This record gives sequence, C-alpha cells and structure tokens, in this order.
Amino acid sequence: MPELLMTDSQTGDGADVAANLSEIHNKIITASKRVDRQSDEVTLVAVSKIQPVAKIEAALAAGHRVFGENRIQEAQSKWPALKTLYPDVTLHLIGPLQTNKAKDAVALFDVIETLDRPKLAEVLKREMDRQDLHRPCYIQVNTGEEPQKAGIAPADVDAFIVKCRDDIGLNIAGLMCIPPADEEAALHFALLRDIARRNGLASLSMGMSGDFEVAVELGATHVRVGTAIFGAREHG
Ligand SMILES: *Cc1c(COP(=O)(O)O)cnc(C)c1O
Repeated sequence: MPELLMTDSQTGDGADVAANLSEIHNKIITASKRVDRQSDEVTLVAVSKIQPVAKIEAALAAGHRVFGENRIQEAQSKWPALKTLYPDVTLHLIGPLQTNKAKDAVALFDVIETLDRPKLAEVLKREMDRQDLHRPCYIQVNTGEEPQKAGIAPADVDAFIVKCRDDIGLNIAGLMCIPPADEEAALHFALLRDIARRNGLASLSMGMSGDFEVAVELGATHVRVGTAIFGAREHG
C-alpha cells in the first residue's frame, strides 16, 4: 500500500497526528493548485473510527474539527463528551445506517453521508422533523455497481435524488462514493462528479488515504482520510 501508511503515523503520539494533518493539508493545497481550485473548497474529514480517543484529542488540540465515523454505537461512546468540549466539531456519518438507528444518527451526526435507499430517506426525514435537526445528507452512489456494496446504482441516482429532495423533502447536499478497491479510482470520481453536476449538487465526498489527491483534482469537496492521519487501525 502507499507510503502514506508507514512511518511516523504509526507511533501514535499527538505530535505525529498534528504533523500528519499538516502534511495532508499541504498535499490538498498542492493538488488544488494543479487544477486551479481554491484549496479552501476542500474539507478534510478525519476518519477516526476504531482509533483511540487520545489520537482524536490530539487532532482536536491541533485545531482540527471535522471528523468521520462509520458506526453509530462507537460514535456514541466517544463523541458526546468530545462535542461538549469542542462544540464546533462537525461529525460525518460515513458508514451504513440501519433505519432503527436513524434516530440516534440524527441526534449525533451533523452530516449523513450514506443515504442509500428510499425507506431510509423517509425515516431520516421523520426523525429530522421530530428532532427539529435538519441534517444535510449525501447520497451514496455504488459507482462500481458492486453487489456487496451499499449505494444507489448510477442509473438510478437521478430519480432517487428527485425523490429524496422533492418528494420527501430532505436536504440533499451532495454525493459520496467508495470506489472498488481494484479499479482506477479516478474513473469513479469523475463519474460521481458528473452525476452531481447534472443534478446541481455542490458537495462531493470522495477520496481516502490512498487517493485523496486524485479526488481533489477531480472536484472532491470532502476527502475522508483515516490511516494517513491516525496510523493503522488496531482492529475491525
Ligand atoms: C474507513 C473509511 C475511510 C478512511 O479510509 P483510510 O484508508 O483509512 O483513509 C474513508 N471512507 C469510508 C467510508 C471509510 O469507511
């Protein structure tokens, strides 16, 4: 795997997390310049799933405020306390969401990136109304049409966007994708960008530790980076 995954990011102290964050910010700036984008159009979502709280605290101490988690229960065990200390934190849900967890997700997460089916859209809308918390949502697109992967098939996305936005009344801010591991990510990023453009959606969540620079070049507004910031995950 890429060199991003080695060396100092694995020793685990706060100085490394801070150094990794600034290195990634620099790479985002460089990638943005290559395609004449403003680097402040790109938000770094620090993916803290499975990472020890000490490393999250190191990122917070370094001034970072946007984080991604993929499991509701794990996020509930870590983030309410941290959000009390750092009320300006923005938390993105980037993992699969069961309808019976929609209530908890709406309460804790500021952005839901993994809207992938009509039933979930309806339940989320009901919960958002009930809690009066109107969270922006991204639709997850299964750009590689992988049967085991969540997300709306590219051919069905336009209709699903209309349904979520116009019929159900959700705030659809953008799209997210997780390209197949064994394919050129750039093709998937370009496809996601084209779907967003023709539907007038502003946000594009794409790119992870190994390919976030490519994603920035292809228009990502949010890159989701875990191991390159925090080091290898211990388990899970
Ligand atoms: C874990 C995860 C990431 C981060 O992956 P890294 O390779 O550690 O940067 C990004 N997006 C999603 C949906 C994830 O589950």
